[in-house]
Amino acid sequence: MQANIVTIPGDGIGVEVVAEGVKVLKAVAEKYGHMFTFENYLIGGCAIDATGEPLPAVTLDACRQADAVLMGAVGGPKWSDPSAKVRPEQGLLAIRKELGLYANLRPVQIFPQLRDASPLRPERLEGVDLVVVRELTGGIYFGERKEATGEDLSAYDTMVYSAPEIERIARRAFELARLRRNKVTSVDKANVLACSRLWRKTVVKVAGDYPDVELDHMLVDAAAMHLMRRPSDFDIILTGNMFGDILTDEASQLAGSMGMLASASLGEGKAGLYEPIHGSAPDITGMGIANPLATILSVGLLLRYSLGLGEEANAVEKAVADTLEAGYRTKDIYTEGAKLVNTEEMGTVVVGKL
Ligand code: NAD
Repeated sequence: MQANIVTIPGDGIGVEVVAEGVKVLKAVAEKYGHMFTFENYLIGGCAIDATGEPLPAVTLDACRQADAVLMGAVGGPKWSDPSAKVRPEQGLLAIRKELGLYANLRPVQIFPQLRDASPLRPERLEGVDLVVVRELTGGIYFGERKEATGEDLSAYDTMVYSAPEIERIARRAFELARLRRNKVTSVDKANVLACSRLWRKTVVKVAGDYPDVELDHMLVDAAAMHLMRRPSDFDIILTGNMFGDILTDEASQLAGSMGMLASASLGEGKAGLYEPIHGSAPDITGMGIANPLATILSVGLLLRYSLGLGEEANAVEKAVADTLEAGYRTKDIYTEGAKLVNTEEMGTVVVGKL
């Protein structure tokens, strides 16, 4: 098949890990006889430096035309002045909104080889296999806000959700549950927030169309605790934008590292945006030690969801598992006795396994 893939590596380690993702995509194309073309564009801090804008119009246009987008991460100390009017993260929020990518899927799978890399006891990780379905284009990240300026030391952000926004993400979660273990845990803060009460009411309504899927509700604070106490009980976690953001960073520790969790952001069509859940990691940028596996696993999701290449996606996931089985580790997941490799070497080993 032919596919036009746009890459937007962004800042910091985004550049380093996307290079490895592209390497894997090229290897897939060669092995299975596909024609993938790649176009590279700017987003985030590097785009601000070059054009003054975190999401230049040419980047957005290219992404609109693409069959799929592979992103790295944005941000860094150079652009983190809180009083700046233009910030890299605005590019991230804008691209999701502009492309209508309201559904963010974040699978949390535990490679048995990495049990020792998690701060949790290995027996707690037994059977962990969950997907966080996070609403991505609404909620508090997109509501009206006011910065504290001058003498006025007050600020606010507003959380807004409409029933249709909740309904469409809930349907996504229930549909996905049907392909898995038929269980949805909806996470909210309904004891305090009006948005969460609407969330709960709407999710219950949608659940009526999926009688075969079990639904339960959990407050976000309790969910944060249960994710550590009994992570294997979860199948699908359905939640809003900010709660999903926070809970998946927490969940990354089940998998051993931020460098292990992939994500797919989808809208109504087939096109999607794929990225690791981690940020630009300024503390390790340029050191060549970033773990590219989250990005490579995101490539697997890209193949599956946007290009419909399930066999190729499985092959990429198996290549990652085989790489770990063979003992290769970047620094973040290193345990004694393993083979320590850098970012590029890790990508090369995965390609070799593929
Ligand atoms: P981060 O995810 O960049 O890093 C958190 C910690 O995890 C760091 O210690 C980092 O070294 C480590 N880490 C992350 N990815 C890793 C990888 N692939 N391999 C090995 N270690 C890895 O979060 P942060 O430090 O809070 O944020 C840094 C910048 O990234 C900020 O500007 C933030 O706004 C931005 N950010 C961007 C995104 C995004 O682009 N999607 C997401 C989160 C944060």
